[in-house]
Amino acid sequence: MHYAEGSCTNDSSERITLVQRIITPNPTSSLRPVSSPLEKAREEFAAFLAHNASWSDKVNKEHPEFFPELTKKQYPAILWIGCADSRVPETVILDGLPGDVFTTRNIANQFLPDDTSAQSMLQYAVEIAHVRHIIVVGHSNCGGVEAAYSAAFPHRGHDVSPLTYKRAADLESEPTPVDRWIAPLAQLARAMPELADMPLEKALDKLARANVVRQVDALTRSAVVRHAWSHKRGSKIMLTSVHGCMYHLDTGLLEDLRISKYWSGLSSS
Ligand SMILES: [Zn+2]
Repeated sequence: MHYAEGSCTNDSSERITLVQRIITPNPTSSLRPVSSPLEKAREEFAAFLAHNASWSDKVNKEHPEFFPELTKKQYPAILWIGCADSRVPETVILDGLPGDVFTTRNIANQFLPDDTSAQSMLQYAVEIAHVRHIIVVGHSNCGGVEAAYSAAFPHRGHDVSPLTYKRAADLESEPTPVDRWIAPLAQLARAMPELADMPLEKALDKLARANVVRQVDALTRSAVVRHAWSHKRGSKIMLTSVHGCMYHLDTGLLEDLRISKYWSGLSSS
């Protein structure tokens, strides 16, 4: 059998990935078998399944009633509209469990009126899953916000987001799916000309926050929320509020942007 220097490290500051946790019995070992690229791809996929099986087994042993209960019905308190970024997993951040959060995530946490997926998700969450809160969550260091900023202000250069810089600077003409998806956010950025020459970190933070404000506004104006709030009294509708937050990658904390909208009936209930 052939052995080679592995990619694992003794540096404890480097994070151990899901794959490494499963397929490398001792992640600090400097030796591991050499795999072909195809074998490696198969091993990685097998690792995901093995990790799931291990988790399921652990939960079943500790709480045998947990999965059978989940099959009956879901009672999520929250509809979370967040970014697809792997560093912002809603259930982990909220210290929750399966069944706690109804979720949709996309690049730069957008809720767009012509997005059938988002609109149907909202209807299901409010009218069937009976969520009580909707939370729109933007986050720091968002690649989608960087892409939109880069498209709006290509003069800031390649470093902001190589993903959209080339098209914005007319170096490539054909819009990609990412270009099309972040176009409304780039449009929002262009409507904020003060962002053009602001320190980059501050400009991106300001755009990310403005994006959350816009999505909260879009949700409260949506047909589903307006219908829910006008028919809520005496119905099964549970929705009371729509909130906007920023998640900070460097602390793991959610920041309340204090733009919550509440059902008017709460004050008279
Ligand atoms: Zn993001």
